[in-house]
Amino acid sequence: MSARRDEQADAVVVGAGLTGLVAAVRLARAAGRGRRVLLLEAGGEPGGRARTTEHHGFRLGLGPRAVYRTTRDGLRALGVRVPGRSPRLGGSQALRDGALHPGYAAAGPLLRTPLLTARERIAVARLLGLARGRTDLAGTDAAQWLGERLPTERARQAAFAVLRMSSYTGRPDLIGADALSLHFAEVRRGVEYVDGGWRTLTEALLARARELGVDVRTGRRCAAVEGGARPRLVTADGQAVRARSVVLAGLPQHAAHQLLGLAGPGQGPPLARPLHTACLDVALSRLPNPRSTLVYGVDEPLYLSVFSATARLAPEGGAVLHLARYDDGAGLDAAEVRKRLYELLDLSQPGWRDAVVHERFLPRITTMTALPEARTGGLTGRPGIRVSGHQGVFVAGDWVGPHGLLANACMLSGIRAAEAAAARL
Ligand SMILES: Cc1cc2nc3c(=O)[nH]c(=O)nc-3n(C[C@H](O)[C@H](O)[C@H](O)COP(=O)(O)OP(=O)(O)OC[C@H]3O[C@@H](n4cnc5c(N)ncnc54)[C@H](O)[C@@H]3O)c2cc1C
Repeated sequence: MSARRDEQADAVVVGAGLTGLVAAVRLARAAGRGRRVLLLEAGGEPGGRARTTEHHGFRLGLGPRAVYRTTRDGLRALGVRVPGRSPRLGGSQALRDGALHPGYAAAGPLLRTPLLTARERIAVARLLGLARGRTDLAGTDAAQWLGERLPTERARQAAFAVLRMSSYTGRPDLIGADALSLHFAEVRRGVEYVDGGWRTLTEALLARARELGVDVRTGRRCAAVEGGARPRLVTADGQAVRARSVVLAGLPQHAAHQLLGLAGPGQGPPLARPLHTACLDVALSRLPNPRSTLVYGVDEPLYLSVFSATARLAPEGGAVLHLARYDDGAGLDAAEVRKRLYELLDLSQPGWRDAVVHERFLPRITTMTALPEARTGGLTGRPGIRVSGHQGVFVAGDWVGPHGLLANACMLSGIRAAEAAAARL
């Protein structure tokens, strides 16, 4: 049997989600013209979990998405603008005991909320207002942190409701308090909803990558990677590519380990637990109650936001809403979760059923492939971009590096991995 010759490239990025797109653009910029950079994506289109679908002119993300400052600044540095605005917290509502109350996510309303006593309000305001991001909390979980800082269970629940909305984490007993407090400090710097959805960002990154000469190939699943001075990568259809650098971008840790042959028992570092969320994405021909645009649960991990009240996502008069139930470990089945999301819609937007253009229920989408848990050292316990024993191979994604949660971690690790990969060319 005649062996096919390996294709030659300077660098290969595997995975064209947000991390891979960022890494490909940064790598191509750092490498300069004339270098061969490949971007291989297993799926039929780039974007990964940042994809946005279109239905009769409505743009629906796969669940709610807000861009944090670090991501926005990183995108700008790569030449990608983020068109959109910040949602208003002013008219938010808090759901407790099955009823809607004035929200308290902003400082003024917090100091007036009847949901807490004066002592509780001050303690929560202090915690949320002063949570500047604490790196010294790495081994402490959020439940312990809130327990030490807040006087009552009700105050802890009220504070966590706001922290949960900012981080998607319904498990204060697991997440490192460092990760939660640093992320909240980041969210306080402002978030933005994007006109056209996150597809606007992935399309702009893809265009940038192509402009810089990146060869983007979809429908190409990478099946194995051998490290070394010149790593060799084999795709599922049997093609092999040799390159000076390979970046595994956005693959969950276990999938990256599998490609590298590190997935056997006892091999590689212990794997962290993923975080899932149930999402209901809804397009309505009209919004029944324009006064209810942001609701967060206090005693149940629920969320509703009318994204189209902030960003351009719907045709004139229409509305795009995203609802979520954060995983709190209660183990509810999908039908029960969906029922609770419908109940929230009934409460916030009575009559919504008569205006449905499209709806999509995602019972269990992966929000984070690895939760930075207190037991594994929080953010500082996460692996770095280098893989021991695999020279020339770098990893990036939401589980990599000591900084950032969610897309911020993708952005920061994607840039670092790309720079390290480019330095080898
Ligand atoms: C419901 C929800 C809400 C979120 N909200 C926010 C938010 O408000 N703010 C925020 O900052 N972040 C948020 N996130 C997180 C953010 O969307 C993700 O961190 C980010 O999109 C992940 O990008 P990624 O490229 O790392 O991974 P992915 O998007 O998963 O991309 C990985 C890509 O690699 C490809 N791939 C996998 N294996 C292979 C292989 N063997 N060969 C080739 N290709 C392969 C996949 O097909 C995929 O396209 C949210 C996520 C979810 C699910």
